[in-house]
Amino acid sequence: MKTAQISVPWLVRMKPGALQRLGLYLARPRLGPVALFHSEGLSQSILDVALQSLQDHSIALALRHEVNEASVEEAVRLLGAVPPSCKALVGVGGGKALDVAKYTASLAGLPYFAVPTSLSNDGFCSPQASLTLEGKRRSLPTGLPEAVIVDLGVCERAPRMLWHSGIGDLSSKFTAVADWTLAFHRRGVAINDLAALISDATVFQFMANPVSDERGIRLLATALMLNGVAMEIAGSSRPASGSEHLISHALDMNGARPRLHGLQTGTAAYLVSSLQRGDHHERIGELFARTGFWESVRKEPFCKEEWRLAVERAPSVKEDFYTILSETDAWPEFARTIAHDSALVGCFE
Ligand SMILES: [Zn+2]
Repeated sequence: MKTAQISVPWLVRMKPGALQRLGLYLARPRLGPVALFHSEGLSQSILDVALQSLQDHSIALALRHEVNEASVEEAVRLLGAVPPSCKALVGVGGGKALDVAKYTASLAGLPYFAVPTSLSNDGFCSPQASLTLEGKRRSLPTGLPEAVIVDLGVCERAPRMLWHSGIGDLSSKFTAVADWTLAFHRRGVAINDLAALISDATVFQFMANPVSDERGIRLLATALMLNGVAMEIAGSSRPASGSEHLISHALDMNGARPRLHGLQTGTAAYLVSSLQRGDHHERIGELFARTGFWESVRKEPFCKEEWRLAVERAPSVKEDFYTILSETDAWPEFARTIAHDSALVGCFE
């Protein structure tokens, strides 16, 4: 069997106060000047810590940009704005800004430092960027970041709903791996056992301490990061994305009310796991009950009709992507679960 070379992050720092050391992490391998992209509306105090750290370690800031559009067109425009003197690109904040920074860095061939300030999905260390191209959402290949810097204190203070979203995205690894195994049996889709093992194991690790204290945040960050690495090992999104992601993509495509990615994929994983063999449905249910996941969903309940349309569309969202939805008329079963499962009371309207 052919083996491929992959690149994984060489610097991983997950600790309180890591953001204050950003400049040091860049100065040691002499990666200055840098370009820094950050989220729109990122707290000024977080941004100030990052900028002060660059200054303290004499890392010149050649370009600073607030990302407000997650599109390929924007990344290409920013590529033109990155001065040739730049030695690295730094992304600070949440999903959109990190996706644009990662994609721009891969276009520019620059080392990329990911600095997530919340853990709402696994995108901060995945080998793809979710961007629009001519208005349509696409998953575009990128490399993994060279460095992942997670300030546990900053992530601990992020809104609870973002933490729940990260847990939802993580729990969907159970259903993704089950779909991957099904695709192997039904269609001969190649499985990379190591990637599947990493993906599964990381959820169990987090489940050992599913709380939002320092240790729990570190476990969640590690699990989400290793999922990105599993995707790179497998050379596909299969270890992290299955039928539950198809439903979430279909919701986005149908123009459903936009909700956090992980709240969509987590809820879909809970429903899908009831169709799959094994005990994942019970496990995900326990995890969501312990962490209060459903509270975040109940704050703005999903629309049942939007979900019905999305579940019907989901099997055709990705070409040649076999999942449990390819062989089951899922909606009648989901509708029964939504109507009778006490955990879901108030989650759909
Ligand atoms: Zn996801």
